[in-house]
Amino acid sequence: MKVQLLNLASQYKKIRKEVLREVQAVCDSQHYVLGKNVAGLETEIAQYCGSKFAVGVASGTDALILALMAAGVGPGDKVITTPFTFFATAGAIARLGAIPVFVDINPQTYNIDPNSLEALLKKGVKGAKAIIPVHLYGQCADMAPIKALGKKYKLLVIEDSAQSIGAEYKGKKAGVLGDMSCFSFYPTKNLGCFGDGGMLTTDNPKLAEKLRMLRVHGSKVRYFHDEVGTNSRLDELQAAILRVKLKYLEAWTEARIKNGKRYDRLFEKAGLSDIVTLPFIQEGNRSVYNQYVVKVKKRDELRAYLASVGVGTEIYYPMPLHLQKCFKYLGYKKGDFPVSEKTAKEALALPIYPELREAEQKYVVSCIAEFFKK
Ligand SMILES: *Cc1c(COP(=O)(O)O)cnc(C)c1O
Repeated sequence: MKVQLLNLASQYKKIRKEVLREVQAVCDSQHYVLGKNVAGLETEIAQYCGSKFAVGVASGTDALILALMAAGVGPGDKVITTPFTFFATAGAIARLGAIPVFVDINPQTYNIDPNSLEALLKKGVKGAKAIIPVHLYGQCADMAPIKALGKKYKLLVIEDSAQSIGAEYKGKKAGVLGDMSCFSFYPTKNLGCFGDGGMLTTDNPKLAEKLRMLRVHGSKVRYFHDEVGTNSRLDELQAAILRVKLKYLEAWTEARIKNGKRYDRLFEKAGLSDIVTLPFIQEGNRSVYNQYVVKVKKRDELRAYLASVGVGTEIYYPMPLHLQKCFKYLGYKKGDFPVSEKTAKEALALPIYPELREAEQKYVVSCIAEFFKK
């Protein structure tokens, strides 16, 4: 048997006709930039998340950069985030000349640890402007204490929701848990387009207006520029595709959750739950399982074995950001964030896409059992 980490073809087969019809309609209209599909998708995403506003942009990375720009973050400012995330979270901070300041993660959820965040803020972070908690793998960070700290220390809270559209924290969706929230429509995300795309949500009308300006070179009236922005727009073609896919998102998410729970049961049944650390979902959270990540000793050997028996896996992420070459100038060293470093050595993502079948999950678990028997 072969089980891919992600099989987008099976999803595409089901929506192909509908998607191609919408793509054709955009081509027939010859309206490619900021038309009715982007506006429509913005309304629909805002509705879905429960936010007042949504602004379509060119990628999740751009969403982060534009959020920071709208927050007034510039050279020398500090922005606090987790070192255990996709590079873009900290890359966006550095791109603006600002300084990423890292805080270690919670060992169970892998999201930024509010206690460590509080300890850092108590010591004082001179020039801090914002916090970017990341909702990793599909589960929201512990936002209540993070927001309280943001308020206390006058820091804007920007959610990195790239992996977590539809995730819930205490009954509220990712997208309304901070001052702004950044989404990605990269193909491997739960709602993916056919290329790059992104979106911001906010309840703040001033920030929404600013984001709309920044994505078109800082202009409200064409050719008159109030500030320096950039060109970062979501394409009509991508928006049209996303509007088709958004209708299925809840069903796909439910299928991911079902697959996640099924893995949990299969690992328990196989007697693997003390060898394989299963994902921990914090009470009050709805994880949307963008990834099903287990923690194991001998991770690299297991991964190689699984590849040899046809099971695709991935390591998100093999090197925490404070140890990346490009961030050497920040002065961090090995041992600074032990939980992130340990997780980077042990985390392994298994196939979890909505169309994954029970027999395939059973195969994945039996292969892992086989590996640990040897
Ligand atoms: C994917 C991702 C991004 C970046 O999104 P792109 O659309 O690829 O630019 C940012 N943060 C996290 C946590 C991500 O997973």
